[in-house]
Amino acid sequence: MDLGLKGKVAVVTGGSVGIGLAIAEGLAAEGVVVVLAARDFERVRDEAARIAATYRVRADAVACDVSTREGTDTLIETVKMSHGGPDILINNAGAGSNETVAEAPDDKWQAYWDLHVMAAVRLGRGLAPLMKARGGGVILHNASICAVQPLWYEPIYNTTKAALMMFSKCLSAELVGDNIRVNCVNPGLVLTPDWIKTAKQLTAGTGGDWQGYLDGVAREFAPIKRFATPAELANFFVFLCSERASYSVGSTYFVDGGWLRTV
Ligand code: NDP
Repeated sequence: MDLGLKGKVAVVTGGSVGIGLAIAEGLAAEGVVVVLAARDFERVRDEAARIAATYRVRADAVACDVSTREGTDTLIETVKMSHGGPDILINNAGAGSNETVAEAPDDKWQAYWDLHVMAAVRLGRGLAPLMKARGGGVILHNASICAVQPLWYEPIYNTTKAALMMFSKCLSAELVGDNIRVNCVNPGLVLTPDWIKTAKQLTAGTGGDWQGYLDGVAREFAPIKRFATPAELANFFVFLCSERASYSVGSTYFVDGGWLRTV
């Protein structure tokens, strides 16, 4: 299937590892110029260089904290100067949380609001006009199944991801007339390096069977009984970026191995 993406420019936040990196690779494999954004400059620079060498496309690295106004301004300005603007924006940067409502302080709520919601608001506001000037584009939000089916140890994550999903819907209505398609993806379990690190930490004192721990998590939550690979998620994102998904607007798609327990 020719996805017709060659030569497009894509911004991927959180593009240095995990799902974001896999999306960047999936797009690069289609000939897309990618701009990876993350805070740790060395890691994002090294991954951009690897992608450029592997897929023979231009791959830029931008070190910025997208949870701050300064960080999103840096990203918007860099993309504008280097490429005129993007055709694709993947709002992917995010992190899990762990707290109770009773104990979490205001500033923790604010930090996750800034990371999961305000980053998407500011980047959408700053980059959509540039996309429009290029004839249109695609904006995708990476929320989570937790946006609608919460895990009880992370109320801040659940709440801010639900807000991101709603923001995606609102933005889609505003931008559809500019030929910009906005959608949201809600993944289930995706086996990123961070999951493996956590599993190793949790099992370190009890024999170190981190793989067994992860298998148990998959058996407990996902009817498919395994994690997705980042590439399996990335395939879905890449499809949504393409003209093959030209009638997909303002939706949320679950990619969760059957975990969602409702229709
Ligand atoms: P990882 O922790 O593997 O990667 C997170 C990426 O985001 C890194 O590149 C990190 O780089 C970057 N990042 C984090 N905070 C910021 C920030 N403030 N500014 C800029 N970049 C930032 O995450 P995953 O790949 O697991 O998750 C990606 C997205 O998918 C997240 O939004 C997550 O909530 C969502 N998701 C993940 C699931 C999973 O099972 N893995 C399931 C459902 C949803 P750096 O630290 O250098 O900034």
